[in-house]
Amino acid sequence: MRIILLGPPGAGKGTQAKRLAEKLDAAHISTGDILRRNVSDQTPLGKETKDFMERGLLVPDELMSKMLLERFTQNDIKKGFILDGYPRNLAQAITLEDIFKRKNIDIDMAVYLDSSERVIIQRLSGRLVCGACGANFHAVNMPPKKKGICDRCSGSLFQRTDDKEETIIKRLEVYKKEVSSLIKYYQQKNKLYRLNADGEAEAVLNEIIVLSNKLHDSLKV
Ligand code: AMP
Repeated sequence: MRIILLGPPGAGKGTQAKRLAEKLDAAHISTGDILRRNVSDQTPLGKETKDFMERGLLVPDELMSKMLLERFTQNDIKKGFILDGYPRNLAQAITLEDIFKRKNIDIDMAVYLDSSERVIIQRLSGRLVCGACGANFHAVNMPPKKKGICDRCSGSLFQRTDDKEETIIKRLEVYKKEVSSLIKYYQQKNKLYRLNADGEAEAVLNEIIVLSNKLHDSLKV
């Protein structure tokens, strides 16, 4: 399956994308993760993008396109993918369409994870991420067994620099400005499915799986 996850920061795109990729045996492409890796490795791309990220702003489209094009040359894409964090505006959606045309592929669905602002702020301000394996925890909703330590791999947990409340508010502003054009774009292509993502991650994941199974069955007919 080829799935795009859309939705505000904090809607759970990363969590859902990781689990979906495992369940559907697809590649997980998180543009945020790729950028954060570049920042921590101090690559030229990381140096160029760090400041945008810390301020909650979008990284310029040209840098994103280059990065994405490169990611789509990798072999694991062939088994399908869950795209998380891209596209974030109409220009990026068009770039993506271009990449797909050249590869002669298309997405199966764009799932819009809708979430309320109250839930988003609560989720993001308590989010803890493992520096080693990328697993997510939450200080209140899903605390690790040992404070500051990842349950999965014993890596150290940290708070993302852009998960401070003032940066969260900025990220939400940026998101709201761009989202309606993206929704329209995928609606017109008949690819958009909207889900409420305020509930438990497991329930949301099941809803996405049900959707993808239905779609898979209808494609076989
Ligand atoms: P995320 O992990 O998806 O919340 O992304 C973290 C940050 O990375 C964002 O706030 C942006 O600064 C940057 N970023 C990730 N994906 C994109 C994208 N598609 N376009 C521009 N900036 C992005």
